[in-house]
Amino acid sequence: MNVTSQVDGKTIFYNSELVSSANNVWRYKITPVESKFKVNLKLRDDPITNKYRGTVYETWLNDVARFFEKVITGPIPEIEITVAFDTGMDNIWGQGGPGDIALNEGEFDVSKLPEIVDDLIITDHHMFPFKSSCKFNADVHKHNEKIDSFYYLAIHEFMHAFGFGALWNGEHIILMKVPRSILTDWMLPDVMKGLPGDLVRLPYLLNNIKAFSDFFNGSIAGTLLGLIDPMIVEFGKMLKYLLNYNLHGRINYIGNHTSTSYPRYTGQNGLQQYRLDVQQNATHIQIYPTITNGNRVENKPLPETGGTELVHWDKTTGIIDKFGRNLNDEIMGSTIEEGVGKLNCWMGTWTLGSLADIGWTVDYTLLNWPLSRFKSV
Ligand SMILES: [Zn+2]
Repeated sequence: MNVTSQVDGKTIFYNSELVSSANNVWRYKITPVESKFKVNLKLRDDPITNKYRGTVYETWLNDVARFFEKVITGPIPEIEITVAFDTGMDNIWGQGGPGDIALNEGEFDVSKLPEIVDDLIITDHHMFPFKSSCKFNADVHKHNEKIDSFYYLAIHEFMHAFGFGALWNGEHIILMKVPRSILTDWMLPDVMKGLPGDLVRLPYLLNNIKAFSDFFNGSIAGTLLGLIDPMIVEFGKMLKYLLNYNLHGRINYIGNHTSTSYPRYTGQNGLQQYRLDVQQNATHIQIYPTITNGNRVENKPLPETGGTELVHWDKTTGIIDKFGRNLNDEIMGSTIEEGVGKLNCWMGTWTLGSLADIGWTVDYTLLNWPLSRFKSV
């Protein structure tokens, strides 16, 4: 039973729990949905974005922020999300992810990760952002036009801002912690020593290998040059070993990729919800694969995936959930960005569950209401 009430024009949502049903009398306990979590929404101060202040787009962004304040309840008290509108985004409708927009201009640009890392909270088991950003296409969503699908697009991009896709790890893992028991401090290159929480930033590491290589190239006689490549190969193996180590418990690990052409999501919370609502015996949730010329291809590196592959659910499966909804219309499907006017999006509990896998505390009950109920205009 879904219960809401209107107070001062605002909708209050209640959780309901069946207490008894004797003699055809159904008694429910209802409690208001409360969350202490805050989404600190900021519009970027620039000439294009400033045109959107006071428009319906700002209202919708606030609606979306309030929605996430209900479905996420912790564990940190607040996230800051900066939103910008921009021209020249071509056919990209929106993008979102951890870190600042300035760092985020090319979504999933690994070279920008060291800075983004500073906006992440890193614990033994999780990495999640306290500062994120989203950017929307101002040519598609003109400030003086009202395009209703923007609200759903904003929910989609905010999901990325909370880490959906952006902080998944797998074949394309981009951040890791080094267990010191295996790789002790003296073995670490200088650039990695003393980083907070034993965090290794892969781009730094790669730069360091390059510097290493340049050093040998410049100062050692030719006979040693042949050692450089094998050394890098060995370093790569070591990395792979460490990554596999991390995959089994150290950091939020998502997926069971033997290849990127059939990527699978196996995060515990997401998969559990998927089993409840879609397929009882599911072993994974299908992730949108890497595609080249219309074909699935193996092992495409993340920087070459363009922001859609490997970071969304595969919407082409034709799977129907237990409520009769086609996964094609789920909010984190692979191509929501394609459709202006796509108004029938819904959010599966497994999508929210994947945020729990990243480290957020979530409340699934709010998904009993359609997303449109959180839209004020
Ligand atoms: Zn997306």
